[in-house]
Amino acid sequence: MPGIMNVLVLNSGSSTIKFQLIATDLERIAQNADQRLARGVIERIGGEAVCSMRSGGTLPHRATAQLRDIRAAVDFIIRWLCSPEAGLAEIKSVADIHAVGHRVVHGGERFKQSVLINDEVLRGIDDCIDLAPLHNPANIKGVLAARELLGAGLPQVAVFDTAFHQTLPEHAYLYALPYQFYRRHKVRRYGFHGTSHRYVAYRYRYLVNLPREEVNIITLHLGNGCSAAAIKAGNSLDTSMGMTPLEGLVMGTRSGDIDPSIIDFLMSKEGLTAQETEGLLNKQSGLLGISGLTNDMRELLDEARENRDRRALLAIELFCYRVRKYIGAYLAALGGADAIVFTGGIGENSAEVRARICQGMEWCGLHLNEDVNATLTGGREGMFSTPDSRLKAYVIPTDEELLIARDTVRCVLAVPPVNSSPR
Ligand code: AMP
Repeated sequence: MPGIMNVLVLNSGSSTIKFQLIATDLERIAQNADQRLARGVIERIGGEAVCSMRSGGTLPHRATAQLRDIRAAVDFIIRWLCSPEAGLAEIKSVADIHAVGHRVVHGGERFKQSVLINDEVLRGIDDCIDLAPLHNPANIKGVLAARELLGAGLPQVAVFDTAFHQTLPEHAYLYALPYQFYRRHKVRRYGFHGTSHRYVAYRYRYLVNLPREEVNIITLHLGNGCSAAAIKAGNSLDTSMGMTPLEGLVMGTRSGDIDPSIIDFLMSKEGLTAQETEGLLNKQSGLLGISGLTNDMRELLDEARENRDRRALLAIELFCYRVRKYIGAYLAALGGADAIVFTGGIGENSAEVRARICQGMEWCGLHLNEDVNATLTGGREGMFSTPDSRLKAYVIPTDEELLIARDTVRCVLAVPPVNSSPR
């Protein structure tokens, strides 16, 4: 195994694959000097796929290609990485790709940290398909494609969205349903976005120079999907997404928390099937459902600013109120926290949404510096509370791919991943 590893990070969905190629090793990880060689996304897999790739500082290379399935898309990515078009001095042939790290959505209760993939691990991921029927099959296809194209001997690592939240105590992960449903079907809170929450928690302690055991924070991943996590002594203590990503905060098209009785009520009033109702809650609710306009926060903010659209304003208010309510709940669950950390497309880019969420939170010692808040957009990182604020507020851009590449290196070298669940 060479010193520096070129790790291909794959995030395989049913019709989209995102990838990055990251060159790193333990020394680079320690010095935060990992090198991103290339990145890209392939959309609309299954037909005329749209591919956008870039390497180093070059402009994006765009192409369309007939890509029938995930295997064809992974093949396309690998060929491009090795081609003169990509211009990567580090990659002359497939032999220069040293490992593959996969984002895997659901690891159930079995996977508490990232693992080197073998047949037994693949079976374990397959066993979790019930819990993530749309995602885990695509993740498995990504692994099999890489195995076929890069050779069975190439190390591949699975990094689970759920793993970071495996430290939740029973009273936080159980629903108050008859206990046998947990025993029989593993109905419980798993939580998602774990790699993102773990990354920003790691980055926070790097910024403030704290040992992991002293990280007591609330992390808010606010993107198209949204979730909050209460982190105590570096471990996830509670999180807002549940058995599926539908629970918790208001999202782009997901409702987040609702009274479960509404489901039966709507099914009978509107003559909907269970599947239609699930679609309604996942795809037509949230910001889109309330505003009737869009699931895109930036467009809603524009609409509210330019036209004072009542329902756009309402959707933004509902969104911010729900986040604030969760911050309050998690402050209580944690017995106080040192900071709240914003990440995700909305959390990283919208000073306005951050300010609205934090409005009226002086009672718990949160005081904002509005000027600094306004500067933290477009990937900038920093603290935007006043220095004497008892509860600090930070923006930390997430970087799940980096964490996947680092976990991959550590798993290949059999070094325990940092900040993963100790169990
Ligand atoms: P993500 O899923 O993390 O890519 O986040 C997507 C969400 O971030 C969408 O709702 C975008 O509208 C939102 N977003 C991105 N940039 C901005 C911005 N400058 N202001 C407000 N929302 C933004």
